[in-house]
Amino acid sequence: MIGIFSGILITTFIPDLLLKKKSSIKQYDDILDRKNVYEFAEYSQWPPFLTDSTFDLNLWRKHCWTNQVSLPTQDPDLYYKRNYTAFSICKDVIHIIDSIYNMKTTIAKVEYPETFAQKIRKIFNDDNTLYAKALEQELHFVINKYSFEHTVYNPLRGRRPIQPPELSFEVYLNQTMEKTSKSCDLCNYQNMTAIDSLGRMENQYAYSAANAFKFDQWHSMFMPRQHDITKLTFKEMKDVFTLAWKWFQAVHKQSPSHRFPTMLWDSLPHGGASQVHPHVHATLHSDHYYGQFESIRFASERYYRDHENAKKHHQKNYFRAIQDIHMAFNLTVSFNGITVLVPITSRKEYDIIVLAENFDERFIKVIYQIVQGYFNKLKQYSFSSCLYLPPLSPNQDDSGLTPIYYRIIPRGQVSSLLSEVSSLDLLSIYNVNKLPAALFAEIITWFQKI
Ligand SMILES: [Zn+2]
Ligand SMILES: [Zn+2]
Repeated sequence: MIGIFSGILITTFIPDLLLKKKSSIKQYDDILDRKNVYEFAEYSQWPPFLTDSTFDLNLWRKHCWTNQVSLPTQDPDLYYKRNYTAFSICKDVIHIIDSIYNMKTTIAKVEYPETFAQKIRKIFNDDNTLYAKALEQELHFVINKYSFEHTVYNPLRGRRPIQPPELSFEVYLNQTMEKTSKSCDLCNYQNMTAIDSLGRMENQYAYSAANAFKFDQWHSMFMPRQHDITKLTFKEMKDVFTLAWKWFQAVHKQSPSHRFPTMLWDSLPHGGASQVHPHVHATLHSDHYYGQFESIRFASERYYRDHENAKKHHQKNYFRAIQDIHMAFNLTVSFNGITVLVPITSRKEYDIIVLAENFDERFIKVIYQIVQGYFNKLKQYSFSSCLYLPPLSPNQDDSGLTPIYYRIIPRGQVSSLLSEVSSLDLLSIYNVNKLPAALFAEIITWFQKI
């Protein structure tokens, strides 16, 4: 590694080297030493994450927000109430929005030759308004200036025809469950799964197994006894999460430097699960979270530092600011201590984030309702989801303390041959073809009071 690095440095600094030779080589070694040890960011103590808004939501709705379906991506006068500039609440909240997000709309013009135009008109059922929109397509861009999550919304693109899968999801699910349940290693866990040094953990509806091929030093799996994910009950899901939580505590006790709990849950092969039997991967990492979440955690640190010099009560918790903004746009539903939100930088249609103050039974109930919504309302049986719990042993160190963070993203039609990810998702920008408000209007119907 050093060889490669010095190679680069030598080419870059050849004129200097020619002048100084030996002594400078030592100097460069020093630079290399410093560069190779990448110090992890120091984290500050942020104000706590709480699930109520930091501003008066009623006042905001009364004086500022017209409850637009769209996001304020163009001229603010189109989105806010007349005279909104006269109210400090409007200014304050818009300031919070602008402190994290940039939003803009651009128009992409399209021309269709006559025969193709006929086809397009047909797609829109000869609706002239929609056809006019197809000629001048509105693209709404949203970027988070701290995490660089970046999404483009084109509601019209959602209407383009997509070939339905040959096999319906019902037939696929029936066939798959029948085929896989007969010889399922996870159903037959006592004989067919590995065990880690902490031994097997079990409760009424769930059990653990070590992963035979690990992706982390502390890595275990937690399964319900139920093979068919579509039949998963709340009790089963609760037992899976409870057992994983116990395992985190046990691992942390044995190895206190492992502090960063993660649960990953993919559903069905189209969601990236290698086994049809539902299973949650739990890992406890040392030093920091996995990169994708650590980058969000560090975005939060930078946001805090940008507001650090404000008076004590104006200091910022990034996650709470994100929540504030989504509350302002009417994209959240809250249950005392738990907030469900449709992110304005969604990765896919029906991307959902849950932020919570505590990891408890009520939280698991909310997650359960979301998964039921995916299954029963959306007929969306494959998904990928993550649950990041706050760092363990916060008594000793509560800097960089993240809230309970859950995120779930649909992974496309279970029986479809078409992949739902592309160079957009993996390598560039997220593309979502329904506006957050339209998605939220559907999701809000999934929840019962808890
Ligand atoms: Zn099974
Ligand atoms: Zn797996």
